[in-house]
Amino acid sequence: MNILVLNCGSSSIKYQLLDMAQTPVLLAKGLVEKIGLPMGNFTHKPEGKEKWTIEQPIADHTVGMDLILKALTDTNHGVIQSLDEIKAVGHRIAHGGEYFSHSVVITPEVKEKIQACCEIAPLHNPAHLKGIETMERLLPEVPQVAVFDTSFHQTLPEKAYIYGIPYEYYSEYKIRKYGFHGTSHKFVAEKACQILGWNITKKKIITCHLGNGASITAINGGKSVDTSMGFTPVAGLVMGTRCGDIDSGALLYICDKKGLTPAEAVKLTNKESGVFGISGASSDFRELEAAVENGNKRAELALDVFAYNVKKYIGAYAAVLNGVDLIIFTGGIGENNISVRKAICNGLSYLGVNFDEKANQVRGEDKIISAPDSRTLLMTITTDEELVIATDTLNLVK
Ligand code: ADP
Repeated sequence: MNILVLNCGSSSIKYQLLDMAQTPVLLAKGLVEKIGLPMGNFTHKPEGKEKWTIEQPIADHTVGMDLILKALTDTNHGVIQSLDEIKAVGHRIAHGGEYFSHSVVITPEVKEKIQACCEIAPLHNPAHLKGIETMERLLPEVPQVAVFDTSFHQTLPEKAYIYGIPYEYYSEYKIRKYGFHGTSHKFVAEKACQILGWNITKKKIITCHLGNGASITAINGGKSVDTSMGFTPVAGLVMGTRCGDIDSGALLYICDKKGLTPAEAVKLTNKESGVFGISGASSDFRELEAAVENGNKRAELALDVFAYNVKKYIGAYAAVLNGVDLIIFTGGIGENNISVRKAICNGLSYLGVNFDEKANQVRGEDKIISAPDSRTLLMTITTDEELVIATDTLNLVK
């Protein structure tokens, strides 16, 4: 049973086609970029065949999606004979607000609710809706499922999600902490417990999803009880280009000084900040490390700030959970960056962590990186958000 997984952004579409009949098999994946710009890019990677790239103007999402469907069925570059072989479509949806605590089959009512969340997720949800409506036109008979970044965090207690501002802003405008990366946090916690033979309902876990976007979640008995991202994904850790937690007074001061509009402040805090902003060199951790090698002090500072932030959140969430059984590292940095993990894990002995430097020499694997006598376990776990979307989609449509 083939499932098409889509992640539609405002000017891009990421996709994967997975055969979910038995053990999931990736058939093809790719990316449409620069939708609406004078020149667009399309990259299609069919398994077992050559990569295929096209450069042409891609006016809108319909043109982009059309390219994807044609590539999937193309005689030379395709992986299926006809579109009838796509049995369902799963969409990654950034924001489900308070409406969705799990994935759902898309109906007109579900679309209305995703639409209602556009106001609080203007950078993401409108694009997701475009993707859904385009697929409804192109594959009208195929069921579609929505999988939300926010839904895993709907179990947060009130005390964790209410901000210290007048309550009316919550009741009237739904300003609160929502949290993101939910599919990844849930997936890696469950996968680790499966590997360890643990019953997740009895365990306290801290999951560190460290990629360009980064967030940390406290999971008690399998439920998210606190998470570092907030009303938007800009909160929490210092990230690649996002500022993370910052005194609102400082931001207002900057806006005043520089005469920034809200849109300009969004750009500053989302695209120009984080380790990129601190270092002035790069948002990519491999490039930052290369810069440090070349004596770049601000790149060194950026890496220090990042690791310090992660460590601080681990301490906070150990307090929230009253102890922790397992700390998981995932995402591009969490899975691959040996020195950043080392910087984070050194000095966690008060939590019963005995970090194993040798075991830490690992990239892109599911592995325990604490010593055998460590009371609190450390693990690297590879995440797979597309697989979560495909699995939820399969379970809802079969
Ligand atoms: P996104 O949030 O865009 O999905 P990723 O999870 O792909 O981001 O993470 C991107 C980050 O992971 C980059 O900073 C990159 O340098 C880092 N990264 C990826 N692979 C490696 C590696 N092999 N070694 C060190 N860092 C890596």
